[in-house]
Amino acid sequence: MIQKNLEQIKNNMNKASQKVNKNINDITLIAVSKTYPVSDIEKAITLGCKDFGENRVQELMEKIDQIDTPVNWHLIGHLQTNKVKYLIGKTKLIHSVDSIKLIQEIQRQSIKKDVLTDVLLEVNVGKEVSKHGILIEDAIEYVKLMSGLSHIRMKGLMTVAPYVENPEHNRQIFRQLYDLSVDIQKQKFNNISTSVLSMGMSNDYEVAIEEGATMIRIGTGIFGDRNYT
Ligand SMILES: *Cc1c(COP(=O)(O)O)cnc(C)c1O
Repeated sequence: MIQKNLEQIKNNMNKASQKVNKNINDITLIAVSKTYPVSDIEKAITLGCKDFGENRVQELMEKIDQIDTPVNWHLIGHLQTNKVKYLIGKTKLIHSVDSIKLIQEIQRQSIKKDVLTDVLLEVNVGKEVSKHGILIEDAIEYVKLMSGLSHIRMKGLMTVAPYVENPEHNRQIFRQLYDLSVDIQKQKFNNISTSVLSMGMSNDYEVAIEEGATMIRIGTGIFGDRNYT
């Protein structure tokens, strides 16, 4: 099933990127493996997946320990300040930076371990109360803070769009995140990149690609329905 799903997704990624004159190789598919067993991750690795996303630090650490193949690990879920110390040096990218305290703690722990930590700023574009992420209007304040820090490097922006039946309903959300990244780019801050736009999930990744996504995060679309129990 994983193989079939991946083929289908690659196909759709290809079509969506061609629509906007992009190459599928410009888009990173992150296989969101939260709640799925290590055997599923291993299967996906044999099928060519190199990037995996988890939303809880503990589950991420357990899986890192169990997977021998070097892959890129992405933390995509909310990160508590007190968990940062476990994580630093283990991730390719932290997608969920959303507070000043968290930024300061990532800087502090990265200095301790002498590593440069790549992060995305998570933006709650849809202003959903149930969602993490900063507001668009506050973004520049966070960018300025990160611009001045030695051991943290902002690579771009991330958003978790609302769940919608019709993916077209999220097009405006993705466009707003893209527009914000252009805005930040124009201001030419030191140490700040906007090259990554992490947006789009199983139900809306094609629209996200059309609106400029460079990373899409897909769980159920690859591994099937999640069993939370
Ligand atoms: C679970 C999760 C995803 C993947 O969701 P699916 O609908 O299973 O594709 C993407 N991003 C974040 C932040 C998630 O927590």
